[in-house]
Amino acid sequence: MQDYKDYLSKYPDEEGRFGGYGGAYLPPELEKPFREITEAYFSLRWSDKFLTELRHIRRHYQGRPTPVYHAARLSEYAGGAQIYLKREDLNHTGAHKLNHCMGEALLARHMGKRKLIAETGAGQHGVALATAAACFGLECEIHMGEVDIEKEAPNVSRMKLLGAAVVPVSFGLRTLKEAVDSAFQAYLADYENSIYCIGSVVGPHPFPLMVRDFQHVVGVESREQFREMTGTDPHAVCACVGGGSNAMGIFSGFLDTAAELYGVEPLGRGEKTGEHAATMSYGREGIIHGFKCYLLQDGEGNPAPVYSCASGLDYPGVGPEHSFLKDEGRVRYVTADDRQAIDAFHRLCRLEGIIPALESAHAVSYALELAREKPHGAILVNLSGRGDKDLDYVLDHYGCGDG
Ligand SMILES: *Cc1c(COP(=O)(O)O)cnc(C)c1O
Repeated sequence: MQDYKDYLSKYPDEEGRFGGYGGAYLPPELEKPFREITEAYFSLRWSDKFLTELRHIRRHYQGRPTPVYHAARLSEYAGGAQIYLKREDLNHTGAHKLNHCMGEALLARHMGKRKLIAETGAGQHGVALATAAACFGLECEIHMGEVDIEKEAPNVSRMKLLGAAVVPVSFGLRTLKEAVDSAFQAYLADYENSIYCIGSVVGPHPFPLMVRDFQHVVGVESREQFREMTGTDPHAVCACVGGGSNAMGIFSGFLDTAAELYGVEPLGRGEKTGEHAATMSYGREGIIHGFKCYLLQDGEGNPAPVYSCASGLDYPGVGPEHSFLKDEGRVRYVTADDRQAIDAFHRLCRLEGIIPALESAHAVSYALELAREKPHGAILVNLSGRGDKDLDYVLDHYGCGDG
């Protein structure tokens, strides 16, 4: 068993490896630009100026610290352990993603770059990055598959209002995977002026480390807030896992405590390949988008099709650090399916007056189960985002939860 006291400075190693996971599997022409990002980030990582600027933005623009809230009525419904929510839904733009997008944009400005380039699937990362770009006066170019552009019209409008250029990707399946390829190509063609910005603790080194650093504030704040409220640490911490950024953010504050950590993955419509995105439960080691991790694969070893009602969770890979923490036994990875997530969504609306993102509802669902099993104690849930973006979907498919 690791002593997690020095864990954050020990992992990843200099090559970006968490045990056997992570690294940087890049085409030769991208090695130099990524090395430049790594060097720039390491020169700023502990700089007072950089950290002071970041703190200022978080406080005065983003609305941090976000509160920890004791969900008394939800706890009473569960009938066991007490449930607490870290309210990342109260961040500007309504989710935790702005935590790392503001960090990435600040890095870009320190590197003298003019433009932020990224891909987006459902558009959440695109909107957060476009927000960061506008706030810093940078250009923003978001690559998005044509299929997703059609499905996610409100987010496309948001990105455009915020001044971003949305580049439609018209090859292959015209969804996220092709958007990644397209964004990499655009970055390669213009890396002198631009920087590529990843939307989770995934991708080649240094992104899993950098995004964890930027999300670490969630863990630091909630540990302090929770101690202030209760005088102790929670018995368990739950967070949903897509790529794994909100989970790494909160877990990184509790790795060296006795808290049990639970990463909740989407089981979608069931266990069959293509019906879920529970990478840790059903995947095996593979390489995707330039890094090694647990990966859902088809018979030929290609990334498998994935599904969840929460579009922020449907990624066939997962952060390399989660892959490592699973093998180490420090974090347990569990699942919640669509039905369970929707039920938790409705409960939280009715019992607490909080409309959660469907992604976050997966974590709430598992916390309810855990609370029932544990008659005493406290469970802290990272409520990664608000659910305004999901209203149409829930109402069309499941109604208001009163039947
Ligand atoms: C994108 C998103 C997620 C999933 O991303 P992670 O990197 O796994 O945190 C979860 N919740 C919300 C609200 C999101 O927008």
